Amino acid sequence: MARTHSAVAQPPPSGTAAKPWDLARAPRIPVARPRLVELPAALPYLRSIDASRTYSNFGPLNTQFETRLAARFGLGPGHVATCNNATSGLTMALQRAAARGGRYCLMPAWTFAATAHAALAAGLTPFLVDVDPATWALTPEIALEALPRISHRVAAIVPVAPFGLPLDAAAWDAFQARTGVEVVLDAAAGFDALSVGHSAAVVSLHATKILGIGEGGFVISRDTDLIVDIRRRSNFGFDGSRDSSLIGGNGKISEFAAAYGLAALDHWKLQRAQYQTVLGYYRAALADTPDLRISPGLGDDWIASTFNIEAPEEAILEIEARLSQAEIATRRWWSHGLQGHRAFADLPRAALPVTERLAATTLGLPCWPGLDATAIDEISAVVRAVLRR
Ligand SMILES: *Cc1c(COP(=O)(O)O)cnc(C)c1O
Repeated sequence: MARTHSAVAQPPPSGTAAKPWDLARAPRIPVARPRLVELPAALPYLRSIDASRTYSNFGPLNTQFETRLAARFGLGPGHVATCNNATSGLTMALQRAAARGGRYCLMPAWTFAATAHAALAAGLTPFLVDVDPATWALTPEIALEALPRISHRVAAIVPVAPFGLPLDAAAWDAFQARTGVEVVLDAAAGFDALSVGHSAAVVSLHATKILGIGEGGFVISRDTDLIVDIRRRSNFGFDGSRDSSLIGGNGKISEFAAAYGLAALDHWKLQRAQYQTVLGYYRAALADTPDLRISPGLGDDWIASTFNIEAPEEAILEIEARLSQAEIATRRWWSHGLQGHRAFADLPRAALPVTERLAATTLGLPCWPGLDATAIDEISAVVRAVLRR
C-alpha cells in the first residue's frame, strides 16, 4: 500500500488559550449565533401539513422545496434530492460510487470531520491529500499527482469547498471524464456560490450554514439519473416496491423541515444581505492590515456563515488569546485537519504541509446575522493591533 507518512510536528492544539468564561458563563460575543426564519414565515407551510396529512416520504412540501432549490441554480425539477443532513447526502453519494468498485476515497485533509465519516460509512477508506495554499481547496492538479501513487483503486474523490469557496465544477467534471474516478463535491457550506456540474454536489442546511433549517441538506447534479439513485438510497434503497435494491438508509427530511426550507428560501435575500453586511464590515475594518489574508472574493463575490483570517502562527495565537481574555469566542473550525483527529489518525495519507500550516495560521472570528459594527470594530482592533506591531 502506498502510504506516506509525514513527520511534521502538529500545530499547538486549539483551545489551549485560557477561556475565562468557559466554566462560568457564555462568551460575551459568541463565534456563531444563527438566526433562522421565525415561526410566522413558516406558518402557512406548516398549516398545509395539517391539510395534506403527509408528514414525510417525499410529500408535497418536499417536492416544492426540491423544485425551488433546483430553480435557484438554474435547473429544472429532478435535479435535487433533499437529505436529512449533508453527512448523509455525502454518504449516499459515496455509497453509489463505492458500488462501482474501489477501495479509497481521496479527500483533502483540510476539511470538517464529516467528510471522512461519510466515506467510512460508505465502506471506503479516506486517503488524505493536501490542499492548494491560495484557495485552501483540493485541486484537480493535486489529485492527478496523487492518483498514480496510490496502489489500490480509488473509488471516489471528494473535493471540498472550504468555508463556501466556489469550486470549479467544470474542471472536476473534466477530471472525472479523464480518470474515471467518481467525483462527489462536499459543498456543505457552498449554498451561495455553488456551480453545478454532472457530479453530485452536497450542500448542508444545518443551522450554522448560510441557508439553515436546523438539520438538513440536499444533493444537486445536472445528472437526473444520479438524483434518482440518491433519492432511492434515502428511502432504504426502495424502488417503488418493498425490495431494497440499493444500499442506503433513511436519509429523508420531514415535511416540517421542508416547510422551514421553503420559508428560508422566501427570506434568502434578506439572510444573504445580513451575512454580507457582517463580512463586508470585517473586510473594511481589516483592510490593509499587514500579513493578513482573507479568502479571495469572500463578502464580495460570495458569502459564507464563517469568517476566517489567515496570519502568521504567532500572531494567530496571540489574537486567539487576546480575544479570549476579552470574552470573545473564536474557533479553529477544522482543528488540525483530518489527520489530527484520533479517529482518523491511522488513515493513509500523503504529506500534508499546507494543511498543517493552515491549522496553525487560520482562525474563525465571530460571524452571525446581527453581529453589530461595534463588536466587529472591537474584534478588528485586536487583530490589527497584533499584526501592526
Ligand atoms: C458543515 C459541513 C459538513 C456537515 O454538514 P451536516 O449537514 O451538518 O451533516 C460537511 N462538510 C463540510 C465541509 C462542512 O462544512
